[in-house]
Formats: sequence, structure tokens, C-alpha cells
Amino acid sequence: MSDLKEHIWHTPLVDTHEHQWKEQEYLQTPPDVLVELFDNYVTADLVVAGASPEAVKKLLDASDPDVRERFEGVREPWEACRYTGYGEAVRLIARLAYGIEEITAETLQRAQRECVRARQPGERLRILREEGNLDHVQVDDFRWACLPDDSAPEFFLQDISWATFCSGDIDVEALCRETDVEVKDLPSLRRAMEAIFDRYGKFAIAVKAQHAYNRTLRWLPREDGDAETVLQKLLRGEQVTPEEKLCLGDWCWAHGAELAAEYSLPFKIHTGYHAGWGRMPVYYIPAGNLWELLATYPRTRFVLMHIAYPYSDELVALAKRYPNVYVDMCWAWSMDPYSAGDFLRRFLHAAPINKLFVFGGDTRLPWAAVAYATQARQGLLRVLQAEEREKNISEREAMAIATRVMRQNQYECFDIEGRRANILHVMRHGNL
Ligand SMILES: [Zn+2]
Repeated sequence: MSDLKEHIWHTPLVDTHEHQWKEQEYLQTPPDVLVELFDNYVTADLVVAGASPEAVKKLLDASDPDVRERFEGVREPWEACRYTGYGEAVRLIARLAYGIEEITAETLQRAQRECVRARQPGERLRILREEGNLDHVQVDDFRWACLPDDSAPEFFLQDISWATFCSGDIDVEALCRETDVEVKDLPSLRRAMEAIFDRYGKFAIAVKAQHAYNRTLRWLPREDGDAETVLQKLLRGEQVTPEEKLCLGDWCWAHGAELAAEYSLPFKIHTGYHAGWGRMPVYYIPAGNLWELLATYPRTRFVLMHIAYPYSDELVALAKRYPNVYVDMCWAWSMDPYSAGDFLRRFLHAAPINKLFVFGGDTRLPWAAVAYATQARQGLLRVLQAEEREKNISEREAMAIATRVMRQNQYECFDIEGRRANILHVMRHGNL
């Protein structure tokens, strides 16, 4: 192994974005090899390649013990997507978890027996930490609450979800349950937001929003009066227009950005490509839509995710321009490995290298995270080797860059040690 390769494989990698199952969920879900291999983004490629949604549903139906027939239903589309980034990840899971070189009905049946044997308490953490050599994992479980994960409180750090707020969706009852604040107007809405940060801000690692799935990322400053009018309509149960929802969403987003800065929490934003297949309003997703938000809240550190694929040139320009912008390559190495590598090279020669995070998996199952981490390490190695070959950088510089983007930058941007200390403190002394 070259020194660089060894360095990249042996450096504990920070995983800034996952939706990993909790320990209980992991143990209670029936172990199933087809779920392990295919219950990730590849299902979208399968459908696009011609699989029927019913065949994909059957593929992932763990209650059906006939592994051979479930796989047979997608075998041809699978052959067509085995070379995509998602397909490569499936083959990596097969190889790393089960020693399978070629996925066939026979190898799957053998792996199913291993899969059942392996499902043990603590296995989820062991896979992520030992097989993936991950430093820690940052989890978005789509909730406001960020309680310590007692299966490994220093390893699983969590995001406060701000997606519903940014979408202009105000669930008054849920807010009241969570914060004891009854939302009647904008000031009480702001108090409810403060209560969420007050309760969970010291344990959370970041704030996260993926509203680019349901609205444009174009943000505009909004007047309190306009946002109040929309909120009052919502509270009376009246219909609001999409434009009115954007107004309230922008208002909530802005207050989230302000609170994030106050609590030293970076604000992560989904930019670019959507998971799934079919409908994708492409004008929602370019990161350039965010320019006014980035300029209005210079004290907030914004982490722009997924290389804004495929609009990644614009993202390099934002990273070059705004001191408060960080770029996270999470999910990108699996979505489109060669564009991700190309992005990394363009970033390296255009924007300061202390602003880039090389990995987040964006998966639910531990072996999928390990496979996606492997793709990130392979991609990083390929890029740095190419840079060395072209004499742009030395081996020593390549290693320093690897350390930066794999962990050092994340430790500089997120308050990882501080949050771990807060979590351990509350676990020792009880009482939230
Ligand atoms: Zn995600």
C-alpha cells in the first residue's frame, strides 16, 4: 500500500451526514440480506433502468423468505445499474460484509444466513466504527429533539431539524408538546424556536434543513407584517398560496439561521439533486439561490451539502466568495463518483481547502455507510494521486489535504468536543 493510501484508510473519517437507524430499530428489524444490499439510493436507479416499483417493493420485503425470487424480479435492471455509483456501493456492501464477488441467487442465500447471525446488540456501532473507521457520525433523524443516543453518545451526534420551519409548515400542537409554548403570533413562534434551541442546542451538532425537496432555495428577506399575515391565516385553518408559504418559510429560516449562530451551530442545507426518481423541479436546487441568505447572516456558518449536484460550479464560486460557507461532499461520491472527483480538484484549485468536508453517507444502514465511506476514500485517493502525478502537490501535501478534508476541517467548524462534553455531563448528572 502506498503511504498516501495507508494514510487515507487509517485516518478516522468524520461522517457529517447520516439517517442511521437507532440501535433499537436496528435490532427489531428482521435481518435481510437484500435489504442490507439494496435498501439505499440504488432503488431509484433500478426503477429508472426498468424495474417496476412493485418488483423493488418485493425486493425489499423482508417478510418474504424467498431471497432467490425477490432478486430475480430485478436481476436485469440490476445488471444495467451495477456500474453507477449506487450500484458500485451495492457491490461493495456485498464484498465487505459477505465476501461476495458476484451477486447471484446462490451467493445471496448463503449471505442471508450470515446476515441473520450477525444481527447482534452493538453490531451497528462496531460496523461503523471498526469496519468504516468512522470518527463519529452526525445523524439527521428529521426531528427537533436531540437527545443523547445512549448506544454510543459520543459517536452519534445529532442535528436539529429545521426543514418544516423552512417549508413554512407550522405544527402548533407538536410545537406546544415540545416547548410548552402556544404559538399565537410571530413573537410566540419565535419563543417556541428559542425553546427548541434552549433545550437541545447544547447537545446538537448542527441545524439541518432539506426543504429543497419541496420549495426553491431562493431566500428573500421578509417583513414581520407579511409573515404575520400568513401565520394568522394558517392558524385560522385557511388555505395559503405557495408564495405566502415561501414568505413564512423564509421568515422561519432566517430566525433559525440567527439562532444557529447564537448557539454556535453550523446550519446545514440540502442543495442539488433529489433522492428518488421522476419529478425534480431543477430550479429549486442550485446553491446560488442562497446568495442573499449567506450575505445577510455572515455570523452563521452555512454547510452546503451534496456538491449542489449537478450545479457544482456555482457552489465552488460560493465557497470562494463567502467566509461563512462550508461545502460538504456528503452523498456525492455515491451519486456520481467521477463528477465528485472532478469537483474536488476544481475546489482545491479555486477555494481555500479548510472549507471542505469530504464525506457524509446519507444512509440508514451501517454497511451502506461503510460502502459509501469506501467510495469517498477511493475517490479522494484517486484525486490526490492524479494531483501528485501532475506535480501539482507533493505526497506530504496530499496527506495534509487528506487529513484536512477527512477530519480537521470538521473539527474546526463543528463544536465536536464541546458537544461531547455537554452530552457526557448531562448523562452523568441527569436532567435535561
Ligand atoms: Zn440526507
